[in-house]
Amino acid sequence: MNHSQTVVNIGWLLDGSGASMQPDMQLEVRAGRICAVNSRAANEPLGFNVLDLSDHTVLPALIDSHVHLFMSATADSTVREHQLVATYAELKATIARHLDQHFENGVVAVRDGGDRYGHVLRFKQAITESAPLPVALKTAGRAWHASGRYGRLIGRSPGKGQSLSTAVAAALAPAVAIDHIKLVNSGLNSLKAFGHQTAPQFAPQEIRAVVKLARTSQLKVMVHANGVRPVREAVESGCDSIEHGFFMGPDNLKRMADHQVTWVPTAITMKAYAEQLAPASAAAATALKNYEHQLEQIAFAKRSGVRIALGTDAGSLGVRHGYAVRQELEILIMAGFALEEAVRCATYNGARLLGLDHLGTLTAGKTATFLAVPGPPEMLLQHMSQATLYSEACALGPF
Ligand SMILES: [Zn+2]
Repeated sequence: MNHSQTVVNIGWLLDGSGASMQPDMQLEVRAGRICAVNSRAANEPLGFNVLDLSDHTVLPALIDSHVHLFMSATADSTVREHQLVATYAELKATIARHLDQHFENGVVAVRDGGDRYGHVLRFKQAITESAPLPVALKTAGRAWHASGRYGRLIGRSPGKGQSLSTAVAAALAPAVAIDHIKLVNSGLNSLKAFGHQTAPQFAPQEIRAVVKLARTSQLKVMVHANGVRPVREAVESGCDSIEHGFFMGPDNLKRMADHQVTWVPTAITMKAYAEQLAPASAAAATALKNYEHQLEQIAFAKRSGVRIALGTDAGSLGVRHGYAVRQELEILIMAGFALEEAVRCATYNGARLLGLDHLGTLTAGKTATFLAVPGPPEMLLQHMSQATLYSEACALGPF
């Protein structure tokens, strides 16, 4: 069979751009790339193989914009504690397994938010062309937090008397190995006091200096920030994305829309906590309230035109690598996103944030990497487990 030219007949197309779903479409694919998107012709063009997905909904393969590959979702506290201090040799297979789980769930790219020892970066650097990863991996290596504040589990703090930007610059030299810089600018959500806010970890001028440094290395800056001040100061300092952003408030959401800062809400983390913590405990009840508050913020963000990229914080308690992307998609829809808009958060907006220009939409010029889910779009979420991933890297696919 000649694999170089294929037409894909599609029942319903969600192209990832946020445009309305289109029925009866056809993709022309040459050498793994989409060369045309048309309404379905009565006759296929001559000389093409035909892939019949006329009873499927087709969408771009998914992207998770916030994961921690060194951590598993398990509730086993022995495992959870050990993975925080495990050696590279111990974690190598775990990281590979998590990437496989992403791929099995139709996720073809992930953005890693860091680990204490930089094991994920080491894993990435050990990848050879002969055994490529199934999933595009972008990693922060080790995140940066202020000494004595939250963040030790996913990174490090500047040395004594050292400014943040000096520390970041020293870590980047002599060669830039990481894909983005991750700063931690607040604490975690409280599971005791609903809506409790923490002070920013870094002064705005320190964040600004890191953003400036990042620009010279063509890197983006992702900032973990919950609460009004930590988010406001990170956004005003020019960061590229706010991670989590619980309790940031409406003014920050409007500010993010104005500054075109991407938001990665990771709402599933609090829903998962609510489900994993002891039933009827005060902590579970607070986690649920945090989650519900985040749903309201997501609804407001949609009305305000904030660009959201779907991220899960996979590896957090009860947040499974790969599978959680589906759950976060459902959450966006529950918050008021149309299916097309939610899919855009998990495809185009993620590809843009990760700098993966060949992915994200099913439009001419992009790679033909897509999911085919049996049935019409109304059944998409229910049938997601039956999705087939078609991609260059996948034996299942025709390309
Ligand atoms: Zn994280």
